Amino acid sequence: MAVSEVSRKVSNESGVLYVVATPIGNLSDMSRRALDTLASVDLIAAEDTRHTARLLSAMGLAKPLIALHEHNETGMSGRILARLQGGESIALVSDAGTPLISDPGFPLVREARRRGCKVVPIPGPSAIICALSAAGLATDRFFFEGFPPRTTSARRRRFQQLAANTATLVLYESSHRLTESLEDMADAFGADRRAVLARELTKLHETFLDAPLGELVERVRQDPDQQRGEMVILVEGAPKRDDAAECGIDTDKLLGLLLRDLSVKRAAEVVAEATGRRRNDIYKRALELKAGQE
Ligand code: SAM
Repeated sequence: MAVSEVSRKVSNESGVLYVVATPIGNLSDMSRRALDTLASVDLIAAEDTRHTARLLSAMGLAKPLIALHEHNETGMSGRILARLQGGESIALVSDAGTPLISDPGFPLVREARRRGCKVVPIPGPSAIICALSAAGLATDRFFFEGFPPRTTSARRRRFQQLAANTATLVLYESSHRLTESLEDMADAFGADRRAVLARELTKLHETFLDAPLGELVERVRQDPDQQRGEMVILVEGAPKRDDAAECGIDTDKLLGLLLRDLSVKRAAEVVAEATGRRRNDIYKRALELKAGQE
């Protein structure tokens, strides 16, 4: 069975809410399954109906649209849910990327699930994942902050709270606040912390600017082109702390003392807890020390 036949089968169900990702710039990123779903639903709830009408028209589709945006989503969600429970199938889209990711839709999806409606994700582009996949920063753990606060004092406070986080930090930022935000990040995280400015992803002027924060601020200040368009900021996580070294604890000495009275396993557990180091590493070291004692 062809892929689109499979998806058409899914999207023919009634009373289903489909959460459909759309391109973040390049229209070729629209998936076949997303197209099939939009073509088959009774109604599309869109962040901006004119914007989505243009997208549908570019794809050769026309569908009834209803607006669901941050200013009406509390009230509008109830009306959409009533139609869903009346058996209509409805797609939720935002202006670009994945709905609910710094975009409207959370109250609708939460309430749809609470009422037992079927909610089906139709995955596709999202600027976070797109930026992470090509920025060259660690992706094993990342922390998505969304948009930082707009006011300077709240933004600085928030960056201070994030400064010790060891996961890669991913933020959305508007071009108007880019320079100020980068300056505040350099202050909070240190000018040497590596960062990547991922701009205009999937579009003609896509760029990745990779530099320590202090240098990144200067390059953005000097090149107005770097302040244009849509952007994701990624910041390398804080270096992992060696709590033991910071507290001046001699791990070997502590292990040696504990091993006089405790099993290797228990001694390793106690030292791992006291130092914040990985239990496996401490356990291996304890085995070595124990072998040396015998
Ligand atoms: N729901 C979207 C997603 O899944 O990525 C995000 C919507 S949020 C309102 C818009 C922000 O996403 C922009 O201000 C920018 O930070 C980021 N963004 C969206 N498209 C982008 C692109 N093509 N290049 C870089 N950043 C983008």
